[in-house]
Amino acid sequence: MEIKNIFCVGRNYVKHARELGNDVPDKPMIFTKPTNSIIYADNQQIKFPRHQGEIHYEIEVVLYIGKEVTRPLQVDNIVTKMALGIDFTLRDVQSALKEKGHPWLLAKGFKNATLLTNFWDFPGQTACEQEDFSLIKNARIVQQGNIKSLIFNFQNLIEYIDDHFGLTPGDIIFTGTPEGVGPITDKDELKLFWNEELKGSFQVGK
Ligand code: ZN
Repeated sequence: MEIKNIFCVGRNYVKHARELGNDVPDKPMIFTKPTNSIIYADNQQIKFPRHQGEIHYEIEVVLYIGKEVTRPLQVDNIVTKMALGIDFTLRDVQSALKEKGHPWLLAKGFKNATLLTNFWDFPGQTACEQEDFSLIKNARIVQQGNIKSLIFNFQNLIEYIDDHFGLTPGDIIFTGTPEGVGPITDKDELKLFWNEELKGSFQVGK
């Protein structure tokens, strides 16, 4: 499946914004990641940058835009598939970039920084609200979320991104991470769950 643009939103769950000491935004804070950073979780070992400080996981619900965006907007007509993803972040690098007011690309765009499970058919926004998603690290739940807690919901995000950058079929949107982000270390085993269903797993390679 070809992916054209990767849009992401920062600070889209209140508790996550607060855990990193950030204010809750009044507009979506959008950034992009290069498609070169995509890796699919396939029960394999994945390598990450070394000696650049902590690398944090951020599990997120990912939307696939399958149809042209038309107004009035109907999310369920435009989003055709969904996945879970991890927006990997070099957190120490990001903190330094934030201090200087520089873009986040170095912290968010490295090789394997954009992990995806396989996509499945989008069941509709209401159905998504019935399911929690979670990230398990070494048999322990480290993050659990539900899209009901989004500050900017799917419709807000799609409208905002389309207004400012254009949004076309093949684009994906990382919709933000709930609280509980934290570092990975060598040999960690990570599993992404949609409710009870395992959607992807991998190991942090040395
Ligand atoms: Zn994120």
